[in-house]
Amino acid sequence: MRSQEPDDYADIRESVRALCAKFPGEYWRTLDRDRAYPAAFVAALTEAGYLAALIPEEYGGSGLTISAAAAILEEVHASGGNGAACHAQMYTMGTILRHGSKAQKERYLPKIAAGELRLQAFGVTEPTSGTDTLALRTTARREGDHYVINGQKIWTSRAEHSDLMLLLARTTPRDQVAKRTDGLSVFLVDMHLAQSANMTITPIRTMMNHATTQIFFDDLRVPAENLVGEEGKGFRYILSGMNSERILIAAECIGDAKWFIDKATRYAKERVLFERPIGQNQGVQFPIARAYAQMRAAELMVREAAAKYEAGSDIGAEANMAKLLAGDASWFAADMCLQTHGGFGFAEEYDVERKFREARLYQVAPISTNMILSYLAEHVLGLPRSY
Ligand SMILES: Cc1cc2nc3c(=O)[nH]c(=O)nc-3n(C[C@H](O)[C@H](O)[C@H](O)COP(=O)(O)OP(=O)(O)OC[C@H]3O[C@@H](n4cnc5c(N)ncnc54)[C@H](O)[C@@H]3O)c2cc1C
Repeated sequence: MRSQEPDDYADIRESVRALCAKFPGEYWRTLDRDRAYPAAFVAALTEAGYLAALIPEEYGGSGLTISAAAAILEEVHASGGNGAACHAQMYTMGTILRHGSKAQKERYLPKIAAGELRLQAFGVTEPTSGTDTLALRTTARREGDHYVINGQKIWTSRAEHSDLMLLLARTTPRDQVAKRTDGLSVFLVDMHLAQSANMTITPIRTMMNHATTQIFFDDLRVPAENLVGEEGKGFRYILSGMNSERILIAAECIGDAKWFIDKATRYAKERVLFERPIGQNQGVQFPIARAYAQMRAAELMVREAAAKYEAGSDIGAEANMAKLLAGDASWFAADMCLQTHGGFGFAEEYDVERKFREARLYQVAPISTNMILSYLAEHVLGLPRSY
């Protein structure tokens, strides 16, 4: 199922589709079975320059818009693949771009653009604080020209496939800050120190193939020059990157929804029972049609969020709604597709059950649905703050 808009990065979409055709269902199925990292696929995307889409040309990237980046990731998902192994390489660098020093930009961005440095690990979530980011417990204590990090992160995806990680840690105790959002700082951590006595990465096996981990820090020394922006302002820096992440992940959900709708439509036409295709029954047609309508509505919100982002507007509401609606559209489409396939939906070789498991994540991560609803209730509708 392809995009309906006429001027819609058609060239980019076509070449991403051609690249993805080299990585068919069989490729993803085998990796899924082994919970293995899609190294060849990531290398191909890197080589084609797609992961450098958002890096300005002056740093060696392609300087494309967020809509173009969204089109890339949407096509990866619409082709049956999954961008989660590397999508963060596209947007995690935004924190350096927006808040890093001139020296940090010059040192890191060209290498990230060339794919020589992988900055795709993002350490925010912790086991005890979860969604309550301001309650995180990992600390960074200044000692001379270093910070000393202690604590634990969880769900740090791609940590084993990254050269650098963006880490959020507390530099001022919570009871000593002037504003509740102060006191957290962002650091660039060299992942080659992993598995030393000071930083241990442990993979977490999940219901889908997602290279996620937990990380323990025990007196890990990070050079002070790796602090991004001002000490104590890190929470704001992380928040400022979340809108682009939400738009891009919403685009992946749209891609997933298109894949499920396409797969279900084809199957409903081919599968003949009671001497007619199952798709001739309205009981089978209607959920497919509903999934299509929901996907199209969500797609419009993703486009609206991207267009406003490009215009420099405040898009907290649109980015959140795009993620919410696209996540719901992909999950409805996943359930519909599995139901349309009957028993065969559960068989690995159809890829439906794999994509079904993958699509479920976006009700929880990178932000769970309740948090989006809470944002809309409080910040858009003016309802009382609930937490
Ligand atoms: C596969 C995977 C990959 C991930 N990758 C990363 C990563 O790379 N980096 C990173 O930092 N994090 C990552 N995450 C973490 C992800 O962002 C969190 O799982 C998500 O934000 C939810 O936090 P939590 O799991 O701690 O749930 P909790 O915060 O414990 O919440 C549990 C449930 O309670 C609900 N809830 C909590 N508080 C409220 C409230 N006040 N009102 C209503 N409902 C509430 C939540 O919506 C949720 O449904 C990943 C998670 C997964 C599963």
